[in-house]
Amino acid sequence: MVEWRTIPGWEAYEISSSGTVRRIATRYRMRRCGPSVRMWDGAHALYLPVAELLAKAFPGGRTPDAIPDPDALVWLRRRVAELEEEVATLRATAQAKKPAKTEQKKRYCVVCGRELPPGYWRRCPEHAYSGEGGLSEDDFRGAVIH
Ligand SMILES: [Zn+2]
Repeated sequence: MVEWRTIPGWEAYEISSSGTVRRIATRYRMRRCGPSVRMWDGAHALYLPVAELLAKAFPGGRTPDAIPDPDALVWLRRRVAELEEEVATLRATAQAKKPAKTEQKKRYCVVCGRELPPGYWRRCPEHAYSGEGGLSEDDFRGAVIH
């Protein structure tokens, strides 16, 4: 049997031995947020640890045969499902953001055939301005024309 007790300092509320908090007048159950419960002091919403309220109302400790609050379990299961979904979404996003390994196409100097360092288009640094191998549009890429 669930036992309800008025919470000292919060006389408009009572708490069950299993940690459910409700308004005495309306029997409205206060919303649970993880280990806390949302309370209303008349002007502000306060999040108070259920353990603290339990200790106030049941100074001798919780009733040994107290069963877990089914509301809290439902809340917890739903929250776990939500978080699992969130993690799956984040994993998928992270996976999508990973830069695809782009095969950098190797380029070779048209004059000596050496592999070109990054940033060189047709000729190696040595032959960059040699004119050998013929000029092409590529040689003027990024050039500033005065
Ligand atoms: Zn070269």
